[in-house]
Amino acid sequence: MARANEVIGEAACTCCGRDTPVKQMGNGLAVMTCPWCGTKTQAFTERGNALIRAKIKGQAAPAPAAAPAERKPNPATPGQKQGGGVFDTLNSLFA
Ligand SMILES: [Zn+2]
Repeated sequence: MARANEVIGEAACTCCGRDTPVKQMGNGLAVMTCPWCGTKTQAFTERGNALIRAKIKGQAAPAPAAAPAERKPNPATPGQKQGGGVFDTLNSLFA
């Protein structure tokens, strides 16, 4: 965990595209103020924080900000052969 106001990386300015240092504020959210054009990009939510951090250059693999959790198939879903549970027995009665 980076300390407050510590530079955590460098990302392209959202306005002019030049390299801009990205800092972490005391609340843990990322902020970047472009020294070239003066544009300030500040995260106010965890989503914005993740989006700014994903733009930091030189990272191994930036994680997607809001990737939906992978849905696993429900083992109790009808239609799949199961091992003779009580609901399988009931379903077979009404089939
Ligand atoms: Zn800029």
